[in-house]
Amino acid sequence: MILDIKNVVKEYKLSRNNKFRALNGINLNFESGQLVSVIGESGSGKSTLMNVIGGLDNDYEGDILLDGKSVHNQSEKELDKYRKNKIGFVFQSFNLIPHLKVLDNITVAMTLSNVKKSERIKRAKKILKDVGLEDQMYKKPNQLSGGQKQRVAIARALINNPDIILADEPTGSLDSETSEQILGLIKIIANQGKLVIMVTHSEKVAEYSDRVITISDGIITKDEKKAEDKKMIVGKEKINNGKQNLSFKDAIGMALKNMKEKLARNLLVSIGASIGITSVIIMLSIGNGVGQYMTNTMNEYVNPNVVEVHQESDTDADDPSPGGIMTADAKPFEQVDIDQLSAISNVDKLELAYSKLSFRGNVAKIGEKESGFQTLSTISSNITSENISSGVLPKTGEVMISANLASELDENIVGKIIDVEFLIGETQFSESFKVSGIFGDIAQNGMNDFSTVFINYSDLTTLAKEKDVIIKPNTVYLVTDNQDNVKGIKDKVLSMGYTGSMEEKLLGMFTEMLDVVTYILAAIAAISLVVSAIMILVVMYISVVERTREIGVLKAIGARRKDIKRIFVAESFLIGLASGLFGLMVAVLLMFGINAITNNQFSVDLVVISSTYAIFGILVSVGISILAGLAPASKAAKLDPVESLRRE
Ligand code: ADP
Ligand code: MG
Repeated sequence: MILDIKNVVKEYKLSRNNKFRALNGINLNFESGQLVSVIGESGSGKSTLMNVIGGLDNDYEGDILLDGKSVHNQSEKELDKYRKNKIGFVFQSFNLIPHLKVLDNITVAMTLSNVKKSERIKRAKKILKDVGLEDQMYKKPNQLSGGQKQRVAIARALINNPDIILADEPTGSLDSETSEQILGLIKIIANQGKLVIMVTHSEKVAEYSDRVITISDGIITKDEKKAEDKKMIVGKEKINNGKQNLSFKDAIGMALKNMKEKLARNLLVSIGASIGITSVIIMLSIGNGVGQYMTNTMNEYVNPNVVEVHQESDTDADDPSPGGIMTADAKPFEQVDIDQLSAISNVDKLELAYSKLSFRGNVAKIGEKESGFQTLSTISSNITSENISSGVLPKTGEVMISANLASELDENIVGKIIDVEFLIGETQFSESFKVSGIFGDIAQNGMNDFSTVFINYSDLTTLAKEKDVIIKPNTVYLVTDNQDNVKGIKDKVLSMGYTGSMEEKLLGMFTEMLDVVTYILAAIAAISLVVSAIMILVVMYISVVERTREIGVLKAIGARRKDIKRIFVAESFLIGLASGLFGLMVAVLLMFGINAITNNQFSVDLVVISSTYAIFGILVSVGISILAGLAPASKAAKLDPVESLRRE
């Protein structure tokens, strides 16, 4: 191996038209198996020369040839390969990655090129043995002495079996005794056939060297060969340096190790970012199934071919009552209304109905037993035999009672005679009826619903007439023969200024309420997702700044831009995943909480998280996190290695 440095000139740009020439025409050549010392005053250009030789700095004039092949005029990819496979760097300040164990610090170069894990460890252990650290491999750098750290750094430099070791003041931070040990190690490495170029301050170090080069103000002023060139022909051990990229799995592994160092911060960010995800999941899951439930319930009670119509009431008509029954003050229909409504197309039949809610004067009796009831209601086609749990619809002179009223009076009341007292206006009615059947069952219209007596409309008007009370219908049912007409009829009814059934009104209100809740959640979700993205962005930028040196080291040992980017993207992926899982967890807890309440109140599960929504929530979280991480990751990838390494 021969390294040729040809007329290298390096200028640092200070400002637009102000440059500083750090290397002023360097011409050198080196051969394998030599330990070459470079000495010179501080600021004479030693580190600059090393960076240029090592391919960390490619912005210079002149050329560097390795075995006759130009290093300077190469693609970035080739330069990365050169750094990874031909060069090993050793720095004054060790530059170990603090959160990685000794073993991982050494294998990281192989991890970057996706060498198999077992092979990585095997090779690392062998080299650790060579530098005398086999019993330290599970320690972290801050648990080692300076000399040990430098041994780790040397092991790391050797791991890919490079041709050239560049050591920039490797003993600069060590005491004299340790320095000697390290120099001894470096000497051995040179003797094994590598070219070692070592920058040093001390003249004493030169004793170890085969050649001492003195540099001053960017010019070689002295080049002293201590020994004859001993041309070493060393058969280079072939090792697999990996051809592939850093694998996704290893990137995640590296990101995890780093994130463990900043666990509290990463957890907090994840928890913060999870708020948005919880909102997204709850937003999607709220009302899921509720609509279904409402429609089912309505169809259970109501004949689907019948449209219920009410007058828009002047007074508060929002009191819910069972079976489409209006409150006490419902406005009656006049003949004009009835004519108008019957004229709607597809309406085959119009039925008049009356219902009255009253909290006094309504009593049903059988034998000694009596119970108040709240609603008196007529029967129309909206009630079908499907709604009757026992018995049949009432014929003339008969009534049907709601299940909760039946349970107050007599479970087996069908066929028996009851006395019913009720008020219409201020007129008291008292009549006996045979009970034909029971409407609904307790499970459906629970004990808390209004209990109701159903009577035929004609019976009611007949009774009223006897007492000179005029009954005007307060509900009208429009019957059609085909369910497909229902929608059209309903729309027409509404456009004429009438209203639909109580259930429909309730359903409408309920859906509106759900919509409002959903909009609020959507707003929270949108805002918090943006906030999360910014938060993750900031944290990732901080992470990049904190790890600038580490990025420099990774580049020095051959990491490509892509690899660096991947490590940071992996980190934001993990934050996203964590916040997604947190978000899902909180959403599930909320689901149980909310459903416990709504179940208790309305027997409905308001929030139903499906696996689709859960997965979607996590995907959103990961997606946003990765998006937020892209810019910091690119920034990290673009960092100039020389500058990153100079950063303290
Ligand atoms: P040393 O021999 O101490 O290692 P360096 O190679 O680090 O010296 O620096 C050589 C000269 O180049 C010094 O005068 C230094 O100030 C200058 N220099 C180094 N890096 C930069 C830079 N990024 N921008 C401008 N000047 C620089
Ligand atoms: Mg220096």
